[in-house]
Amino acid sequence: MAFDVDLFVIGAGSGGVRAARIAAEHGAKAIVAEEFRVGGTCVIRGCVPKKLLVYASRFADDFSDAEGFGWSVGPSRFDWPTLVAAKEREISRLSAIYRANLAKAGVELIEERAELIDAHNVRLAGGRTASARHILVATGARPEPARSIEGLEHAVSSNEIFDLETFPSRLLIVGGGYIAVEFASLFARLGAEVIQVMRAGNVLRGFDEDMRDGLRDELRRAGVELRFNCLPTRIEKRGARLHVALSDGDALEADQVLVATGRKPNTRGLGLERIGVALDAAGAIVVDSASTSSVPSIHAVGDVTNRINLTPVAIREGHALADRLFGGSVGVVDHDNVAHAVFATPEIGAVGLTEAEATQRYDVVDIYKTNFKPMKATLSGSGERTIMKLVVDAATNRVVGAHILGHEAGEMIQILAIAIKMGATKADLDATMAVHPTAAEELVTMRTRAARIERRARTEAGG
Ligand code: FAD
Repeated sequence: MAFDVDLFVIGAGSGGVRAARIAAEHGAKAIVAEEFRVGGTCVIRGCVPKKLLVYASRFADDFSDAEGFGWSVGPSRFDWPTLVAAKEREISRLSAIYRANLAKAGVELIEERAELIDAHNVRLAGGRTASARHILVATGARPEPARSIEGLEHAVSSNEIFDLETFPSRLLIVGGGYIAVEFASLFARLGAEVIQVMRAGNVLRGFDEDMRDGLRDELRRAGVELRFNCLPTRIEKRGARLHVALSDGDALEADQVLVATGRKPNTRGLGLERIGVALDAAGAIVVDSASTSSVPSIHAVGDVTNRINLTPVAIREGHALADRLFGGSVGVVDHDNVAHAVFATPEIGAVGLTEAEATQRYDVVDIYKTNFKPMKATLSGSGERTIMKLVVDAATNRVVGAHILGHEAGEMIQILAIAIKMGATKADLDATMAVHPTAAEELVTMRTRAARIERRARTEAGG
């Protein structure tokens, strides 16, 4: 059977662009359709603009830290429209590079929404149709607001926060996940009064408990007012301000409300159910280890599959799929030990298992921990702490988890992840000479075990 193309990709984000480009490099004829802006969430309204705002926010710490080192810093002023315009220039530059790379590889880009007609045919918003041997759904995810909030139309999501016309001098952030925490940390540093409310009793559900507690304390130190076990019930516009009623009976006023309570796979209205593509309860496309759905010609990568929702994972999945379909390789991605970071200030970097996860999996787990004032804070006078934690399977001495709260934790964990992926033991870290004076040297000089946790003891205790 003849098809118009070998691969039709829906979504020009991290996973889709990589898959199309690699498919074309293997000689396949490929089309990518994009309904918004080329580059997807990461480039346009995710990782990249977020990190640029994080950099902007950290000058506030630099200005106040400098005095302890002998500097007199004059009055400083922050201008939000200047930052938004600079950010826009950078993401437009990156989006243009994505386009150029697709063009160079010979991929056709169609800037329209696409939907599936059947297992091999796609319809574009402009009316054109195309048949494809393989279809890749790489449509990502979208913010999912807590529907229980009345007056949600007055709030913004992470999609809009990057382009607010005026800087919110009083910002209410709803949610305790990594995106909510990052915005709380950066807006507080840019000068906003930030209140963060969440249903949970602490920030960052799913992260190691020591990291959660440490970052909670750092957010408070940055001036963020944290309210746990509580959610807005109603948002009302009163003049230029928003009046927000909370589930604990309290109420507060803010200039802006950012709802960052989660994200949902972008599968709505694509025609997937009609064709028989299996979706899970969250609406994510169910795929096998090679990223193929329940319909053999339809594949999915990235956030739309809700496996590990990170850019490098989407890219790797897209690349592996293209290699498998058109390059003859196996194309299975290893989702174990994926390092990740939270770009608050200070950052969290993590790889592998949390203490809680490790104690479920291994009989005996050893914990190594350190909590110290970073060297820079001695003269700056800042009260911040750095926390590092290694989780070790006692039977094999393998390091099965590493967690860092501190400056450049994202950079540190990337390097440590290589060792952990290779199966490094605690003895391997101990045998590594320290780089002095650094914070990271603590990772190879932690000698005293903080705790040994045995499964038998927990079981006997009824755990
Ligand atoms: P996306 O990049 O979202 O691309 C999907 C594309 O499909 C979009 O461009 C969309 O417009 C398009 N599309 C959707 N439906 C259609 C349709 N029917 N027709 C045509 N086009 C369509 N990850 C990290 O690794 N590090 C971070 O620091 C980080 N920070 C983040 C911060 C924020 C605020 C957010 C929201 C996300 C962040 N992420 C981060 C997650 C990261 O952005 C995603 O994991 C990644 O973008 C997923 O790539 P993807 O290819 O699956 O989808």
